[in-house]
Amino acid sequence: MKRNAFEGRLLGAHMSIAGGVDSAIGRGERVGCTAIQIFTKNNNQWNAKPLSGEEIGAFKEAQQKTKVVASLAHCAYLINLASPDKGNWERSFNGMKNEVLRAGELEIPYLVLHPGSHTGSGATEGIKRISDAINRIHEEQAHRLPMILLECMAGQGSSIGSKFEELRDIMADIKDQSRIGICIDTCHMFAAGYDIRTRETYDASFQEFDRIVGLEWIKAFHLNDSKKDLACHVDRHEHIGKGFIGLEAFRCLLNDPRFSKLPMVLETPKNEDDSWDLMNLDALESLFTRSEKVRS
Ligand SMILES: [Zn+2]
Ligand SMILES: [Zn+2]
Repeated sequence: MKRNAFEGRLLGAHMSIAGGVDSAIGRGERVGCTAIQIFTKNNNQWNAKPLSGEEIGAFKEAQQKTKVVASLAHCAYLINLASPDKGNWERSFNGMKNEVLRAGELEIPYLVLHPGSHTGSGATEGIKRISDAINRIHEEQAHRLPMILLECMAGQGSSIGSKFEELRDIMADIKDQSRIGICIDTCHMFAAGYDIRTRETYDASFQEFDRIVGLEWIKAFHLNDSKKDLACHVDRHEHIGKGFIGLEAFRCLLNDPRFSKLPMVLETPKNEDDSWDLMNLDALESLFTRSEKVRS
């Protein structure tokens, strides 16, 4: 399926790898994605069989055939690089190293990471553990790909990264600044208290991000509406336009020339026959202003 408004853009959704990593590409193409995000392994398990040469080859070939770009890999949810527990931190560190290796083998440019939860040990300590882990991975992993993207968080529990200042502080301690960036999740930033519902609030929130972190560090977006209201600190994704954020924020974002080259993927609820993906991608397509449609 082809969507004219997506031509020249990197737009799509998270896709399942059931049946092999290459199958995610076909799933993306069927609903009209030009970019997708995947987990490179089961996202609820520590271990996975290493990727075979065959799997890697099929994955690259599927992208060439379909022109769907696998722009983003997402880390397993188990990883907590901020954990004060030594055993859990070691497991997380090794898990993260494996995530970097797998995304690198698949030549996926960006790997999205939830920074972590300090579980009561304090944000300052947690931030230090995260940047230490990333620095060590950068040193041990000579491969240039992928760039690790810290995802902004909703602020549930003791999670780090719901305040722009925390993202800035993690970034500040990374030695190789060419291998680190930020992924903005619209649901998370809204749940964290950064309003984007109108042109004015959208501009103000991104101005604040620019002042604290710098817009140039944003490398990707997760496009999700929110089941809960502003500053709820709860992470619940909703279909585009059906939640508390509403369509205007996504209209601003999709037509923002500062971000038009960046991959943007949905992480909205899914169903068996893909009709929800189609509905959400249709919603995005409808939000392009006319001048943007002509340009693409
Ligand atoms: Zn996300
Ligand atoms: Zn989320």
